[in-house]
Amino acid sequence: MKILVLNCGSSSIKFELFEMNMKGILSKGRVEKVGMKGSFMRLQKKSGELVKFEGEILDHKIGVEYILGVIISEKHGAISSLNEIDAVGHRYVHGGEYFKESVIIDNKNIKYLENNIELAPLHNPANLKGIIAMQTLLPKVPQIAVFDTAFHQTMPIKSYIYGIPYSLYKKHKIRRYGFHGTSHRYVYQKACERLKQNPEEKKIITCHLGNGASIAAIKYGKSYDTSMGFTPVEGLIMGTRTGDLDIGVVTYIMKKEEIGRATVGTLINKFSGLLGITGVSSDVREIEEKAKKGKKRAILGLDMFAYRVKKYIGAYTAAMGGVDIVVFTGGIGENSSLIRKKICEEMEFFGIKFDDKKNEVRGKEQIITAEDSKTIVIVVPTNEELVIAQDTEIIVKKLSKLVKNK
Ligand code: ADP
Repeated sequence: MKILVLNCGSSSIKFELFEMNMKGILSKGRVEKVGMKGSFMRLQKKSGELVKFEGEILDHKIGVEYILGVIISEKHGAISSLNEIDAVGHRYVHGGEYFKESVIIDNKNIKYLENNIELAPLHNPANLKGIIAMQTLLPKVPQIAVFDTAFHQTMPIKSYIYGIPYSLYKKHKIRRYGFHGTSHRYVYQKACERLKQNPEEKKIITCHLGNGASIAAIKYGKSYDTSMGFTPVEGLIMGTRTGDLDIGVVTYIMKKEEIGRATVGTLINKFSGLLGITGVSSDVREIEEKAKKGKKRAILGLDMFAYRVKKYIGAYTAAMGGVDIVVFTGGIGENSSLIRKKICEEMEFFGIKFDDKKNEVRGKEQIITAEDSKTIVIVVPTNEELVIAQDTEIIVKKLSKLVKNK
């Protein structure tokens, strides 16, 4: 079965074409600067060869058309006809309370997707544009939506309600939703497979540390709590987002700096976090370089980032009544030995016996605690696209069975 996975952002479209039976990727790439000057597409062929195409990509539909054209092109294509595509899996950021798992897109579900636009005004419109473009271009091919929020729909109510009037939850659905669900789900399952553990008996904390970062408490195979909330700004300190912040600070900044809602929104989302603290960059690699040279605010940024993760690990361990496995993933979690060490140091009292040597790993699955560590800490590279492809395959197979049995 061949599955095309599409991840439409506001100005970019990422894609991967999977051959599920061979467990391989036939083609992948991304369109950048959709609707802007200088738009282009980068393609990585199965051989690993990289190709760049420049073109006027005015909107998402043209972008998707471009991708399909390249996939079947004689020179750079991976398949000979679009008929070979069995299904398309779409990343969809916010599924609200309605979508608790991945779904096939039909007329009813499209309506619910439209209703959710307001919950993620930066992401959902682009995701929806990708779906509509695909429906037009490949009308006979099943389209599946896989949500960042769905995995966290198992959180108990005490984890997701805010301390605001309950009526605001009822009226506007203001509650904690959580994000990065496909990644948390993938890495906790992978960790259990590797460690030969039954997830339904384990208490696991997954740390997705990338530019956007979140942490999840997974109790007996279900998300019990997670650090991102109504929006992705809550929780950990991120590349450019504040993470947890006294709300009083926001209203105070608005007053003192005489700025409005939109500007303060940009400030807490785009100019805060590691970028704001260090004044260097939002990129941990660059910050680590400066920290090595002794730049104080770079050192402070790394310390603050790690300290916040450590605090959440403590909080989630208390919340679940223990922790058996801690998983690191995301660009920082997979690659930065320094950050992982800062998070895990002085945690022996907690059952984490860290192994510095094993921790010198980059982008590879590896246990980084000693053999006799009570809590196991493991690095697991994430693969959100694969989760989308796998969910798509499962749903399409179920559907075809239903059709056959009719
Ligand atoms: P996102 O998908 O949220 O944009 P990623 O998961 O790609 O982000 O993670 C990006 C982050 O990972 C950046 O801060 C980057 O500096 C960090 N990173 C990537 N490689 C390394 C490395 N070798 N050492 C330290 N940090 C790294």
